[in-house]
Amino acid sequence: MGDNSIHICIPSPALQIISLLEDAGFEAWCVGGFVRDSIMGRPVHDVDLASSASWQQLKQLCEGAGIRTREIGIKHGTLTVLLDDEAIEVTTYRIDGAYSDNRHPDSVTAARSIEEDLKRRDFTINAMAYHPVRGLLDPFGGREDIERGLIRTVGDPRKRFQEDALRILRGCRFASQLGFQMDETTFQAALSQKSLLANVAKERIYDEMERLLLGAHVHEALMRCSGILAFPFPEIAAMVGCEQNTVYHIYSVWEHTAVAVESVAPDPVLRWAMFFHDMGKPAAKFEGPDGISHFYGHAKISVLMAKEIMDRMGFSNHRQAQILALVKRHDDVVEPQRRSVRRALARLEGRPELFRMLCEVKRADARAQAPMCAPRVDLADELEAVLDEILAEGEAFSLKSLAVNGRDAMEAGIPQGPAIGNALNAALEAVIEGALPNQREELLEFLRELSS
Ligand code: ATP
Ligand code: MG
Repeated sequence: MGDNSIHICIPSPALQIISLLEDAGFEAWCVGGFVRDSIMGRPVHDVDLASSASWQQLKQLCEGAGIRTREIGIKHGTLTVLLDDEAIEVTTYRIDGAYSDNRHPDSVTAARSIEEDLKRRDFTINAMAYHPVRGLLDPFGGREDIERGLIRTVGDPRKRFQEDALRILRGCRFASQLGFQMDETTFQAALSQKSLLANVAKERIYDEMERLLLGAHVHEALMRCSGILAFPFPEIAAMVGCEQNTVYHIYSVWEHTAVAVESVAPDPVLRWAMFFHDMGKPAAKFEGPDGISHFYGHAKISVLMAKEIMDRMGFSNHRQAQILALVKRHDDVVEPQRRSVRRALARLEGRPELFRMLCEVKRADARAQAPMCAPRVDLADELEAVLDEILAEGEAFSLKSLAVNGRDAMEAGIPQGPAIGNALNAALEAVIEGALPNQREELLEFLRELSS
């Protein structure tokens, strides 16, 4: 019944579950991202199975075979099977009922066949099934769309996006991950239905946007999808087409952002920081009489806007603090000299790992500027080399790394209370500025003088 011209290697735990189900008279197929990624030769992270068995029937079979299960997704008909350290999600063939909230089906009913189940899936590339013997089932031309690099909904895109608006963002996300484009009809429908994203939970938007930002083709995806993404992130609208008439730039603020995001390592904190770093530029922009653009103070505005977005999306405080520090400091001038680097470290709460991330941010920023800014990439390398020297030699750049502590300050005669912190900070500043070595004796002397 399927196409046997293609062979996909299925991991053994999934094969065992397929056999367990089919020996008991049910049917089971590999589906979703596993099939798509296998055909594309991309690394696969998990295998999703679809089966004619209900989750209760599967659970009973697993119990009989001594296999553990978890009932996390049972309200959607999904049972998670734990086998050989793998968690395999097995979902009963289903048809989704009406979607009155643009996000969740009002009801989920069992489908009779795999073909019916594939029909409810979002995109053709995600609507294929594979079986070790029966081969590939591809009723909507998913394989051809993979070859053409197209993201196309199963059925009428307007209807599919109205049913579940999250699919609009999933389409943008797959574009970024796979380097595909939405086909024209799908894209136009996504644009015209974007306001339905108002009905999607912010956690889901956060998650999809993060996956999009982490994609290998994020530059292109951000460029193409800006009109869609501007609905959940209205701050984008002013960045698009905000020209930068300076010798340092060859791109608009938005394209510079898109290139900078792709230029940094795919780490969530770094990618979000690049996404936000120049968001304040449209507001800070003015043009001199010579027509040259200036953006003085933009980093501070970017911080305000990033904070507002991250509060809205529910970022953790820890993550916010890291991202905001990087956005705030992205444009700070740091010289490849120890004093300048010590000062920069102090501004980053004395955290070397954050300083290294700042170097990453500076490199990515430079790679997205005019070719004349390429030396800034090397400058960031030099900054990191200076940081290594500072760390190797135990130089102080935070209260923690200072050779005296609060008790020493008291013994030197500083009165208890806020005066202690003030005195230690004064000592730290003197060390950072190079007026004092980070040595106990000299620092005690400094504190004694302060107290007298
Ligand atoms: P990845 O796991 O890499 O994110 P995936 O395609 O496996 O990609 P999942 O979110 O794991 O994505 O979903 C598994 C499958 O379920 C999809 O391939 C698709 O067939 C279907 N699916 C997921 N979300 C939706 C949705 N919102 N609407 C319709 N089908 C969906
Ligand atoms: Mg998946």
